[in-house]
Amino acid sequence: MADLIEHFKKGTFEEQYWLPAHNKRRESSLFRNNKYLLKNIIKAPCWVCFTQQELEVHHVFEWAFWEALEKQKITNMLKAISFYDDEYISQAEKPEVLHEMIDELEEDEPVLKSPDDLRNLVVLCKKHHRLKFTGIHSISFPIWLAVAGVPSEGGILTREQILTAVERVQQLDSALSSYASKDYKFL
Ligand SMILES: [Zn+2]
Repeated sequence: MADLIEHFKKGTFEEQYWLPAHNKRRESSLFRNNKYLLKNIIKAPCWVCFTQQELEVHHVFEWAFWEALEKQKITNMLKAISFYDDEYISQAEKPEVLHEMIDELEEDEPVLKSPDDLRNLVVLCKKHHRLKFTGIHSISFPIWLAVAGVPSEGGILTREQILTAVERVQQLDSALSSYASKDYKFL
């Protein structure tokens, strides 16, 4: 029996980081092609919730940091996280194309050269990419990793239930703070 019952925890964090000198971001033809391939040919869903709605393509290692990073290390880390595992690939409409592309890349370019390499890209819906409390850009890595590690079936809660609960808590919080400031809204 667990010592603590399940509970929500709330925290705030600030971040500070260094950015190496980099060129102004331009969409490369490699990125454009890979984005088209993932969204329109392979029809890869959101990596977190498997939806096909409001899809965006996320760079795992950000473009702005790329020049300062060790490419072999990046390759090892991407392999360790393994975004393109069998469970995810099987959710795509054309899993065989995705399998083929990844296998080809691993053979032709064992170490990543570009941030726009398919292996550094992951499809996320807007909610799991950018939105507050649920997006990879707005929660810390330990929390994001834990959410990503929740099994899609057979867990205490599903990934979707956990994320829905977090959003409801957020809505409740903003409703309560608007009451607190006497900013009543009558519907
Ligand atoms: Zn999603």
